[in-house]
Amino acid sequence: MDKSKKLANGIEMPRLGLGVWRVEESDATDSVKWAIENGYRLIDTAAVYKNEKGVGEGIRQSGIKREDLFVTTKLWNADQGYDSVHQAFNESLERLGLDYVDLYLIHWPVEGKFNDSWRAMEEIYESGRAKAIGVSNFHQHHIEELMTTAKIKPMVDQIELHPTLTQVDLRDYLAGEGIAVEAWSPLGQGKILQNPTLVEIGKKHNKTAAQVIIRWHLQSDIIVIPKSVHEERIKENYDVFDFELNDEEIGQINALNIDERLGADPDNFDF
Ligand code: NAD
Repeated sequence: MDKSKKLANGIEMPRLGLGVWRVEESDATDSVKWAIENGYRLIDTAAVYKNEKGVGEGIRQSGIKREDLFVTTKLWNADQGYDSVHQAFNESLERLGLDYVDLYLIHWPVEGKFNDSWRAMEEIYESGRAKAIGVSNFHQHHIEELMTTAKIKPMVDQIELHPTLTQVDLRDYLAGEGIAVEAWSPLGQGKILQNPTLVEIGKKHNKTAAQVIIRWHLQSDIIVIPKSVHEERIKENYDVFDFELNDEEIGQINALNIDERLGADPDNFDF
């Protein structure tokens, strides 16, 4: 399996990365450094996570060359609207200590604002300071609304996606549009790791349930960003390139879907 996926604009995005939501600034530095030392090349943060400084510090401490790393950050809801996006983006870059990001995402589809936000994001993309731009938490109808004014189609949609929320219809739509699917809370926030089906499949491959889930995402053409602040787990979550789930196992995991959201529905959020 290729460790990266080509986005619609030709940029290569690593298929497996580290997420840092609910990670303290100081822990972010160590987590990012450990991840990079253990092979990760994608880091997923956001302005609202309040740890971009720590992430930037971890990148510097790792000693990795900037061009070998793929950094994502996101535009927070309060900063949506044409004028505020440029400032919010510059502040993210400053906190990260970087002069470009690889992917800049609209974090949530704030109605009445995201079309204007996107116009500013297109300018940032054209300036070269974001190598790719995309959205997060967009349903099909949000993307259709965006496309009524957009010049550039989003390259990625980062959505809640795990074995108990498989979002098949949205994934099919995104695949048809050439928009890469990225999973947030890919491990179901750790709540599904005791699931007997996942544990059993893991035993057959000498892998943990977390590794089975990550492999299921990868084999389903989903970019995946599990979060951990523990070095052993960070290592474990990347150790998934030496085994393969068969069709039956993939089917068993698909069958765990119960359309269970752990986060807000993008049609009904109040933040
Ligand atoms: P996740 O599904 O990655 O689960 C993380 C939790 O699982 C950890 O806190 C830990 O308790 C457990 N865990 C991780 N690895 C483990 C292992 N090997 N063994 C046992 N337990 C393990 O949850 P998440 O943090 O919600 O999602 C991942 C990333 O997705 C976030 O950090 C963030 O970057 C992104 N995200 C984005 C949005 C969005 O709106 N775009 C929302 C939520 C999360």
